[in-house]
Amino acid sequence: MSLSKKTAVVTGASSGIGAVYADRLAARGYDLILIARRADRLTSLAQKLSSAHGVGIQTLAADLGTDTGIAQVEAALAGNPDVRILVNNAGSARLRALGQSSLEDSLSQVALNITALTRLTRAVLPGFLARNDGAVINIASVLAVHSLAISSVYSGTKAYVLAFSRGLQQELADTNVKVQVVLPASTATEIWTEDVSGVPLSALRPESVMSTEDLVDAALAGFDQGEAVTWPSVADASLWERFDTARASLFAATQTGTPAPRYRKA
Ligand code: NAP
Repeated sequence: MSLSKKTAVVTGASSGIGAVYADRLAARGYDLILIARRADRLTSLAQKLSSAHGVGIQTLAADLGTDTGIAQVEAALAGNPDVRILVNNAGSARLRALGQSSLEDSLSQVALNITALTRLTRAVLPGFLARNDGAVINIASVLAVHSLAISSVYSGTKAYVLAFSRGLQQELADTNVKVQVVLPASTATEIWTEDVSGVPLSALRPESVMSTEDLVDAALAGFDQGEAVTWPSVADASLWERFDTARASLFAATQTGTPAPRYRKA
């Protein structure tokens, strides 16, 4: 039996998808570092999970939308040799037309969904590589490949999460460090409130909404299967394979060095 400790870090653990990741990873025997802004929520979740699963839990109240908050978490992760999994789950959605959005709404999504995710990944990577062991789970969204009139910034940030994760997978292909990107569709969380995304859960088609438990259990099943890209709600896995094949063909077709005939002067 190994006596070494293993720790999983979950950002955005105070509600929704992150809280279920925390529960499932504790059930798998991981000690936890739980991060979000609402310290009271983190404390009560930590109490519940430590008595249910008997693991050690540290909470870290930090605003990952700020440089100070990210730096605080970076320092905690970079110096911790027990970290084996980072779940970059904290994210915000402000679903509104750009022309009707405040600059703050746009930039806060970029700061949390892109900047914090990138910096925290960078913070754990040297330790993962030194031990040749570790996993980063990045929570994107189906809106990474689909834009709506109210999601230009949010879709853009999640497209970044997908592209960033795909590049990192290639960078780490010869190591034992894994990167999984998860693309949830609508999931029943507090994100679907007027105060958070601006869209209430009642505005969604009920049959299109997954529970947080189903979402995380499916995502972890994909993780256990060694999947690089996980679409929890998509029954036909060949859709992603065909999409990705078409993407690779399009990229290959760009490598001509000449304007396409339709753009040449007659
Ligand atoms: P949620 O219940 O609102 O959870 C969001 C989490 O992020 C909360 O724990 C929140 O905690 C934390 N957070 C927000 N702003 C933060 C900040 N500035 N600093 C630190 N933590 C912050 O929503 P969720 O649906 O579970 O979202 C989790 C992830 O899933 C997000 O990346 C989201 O984009 C993605 N996703 C959700 C859906 C869906 O339909 N629900 C679909 C696709 C993707 P505090 O407020 O306590 O800070």
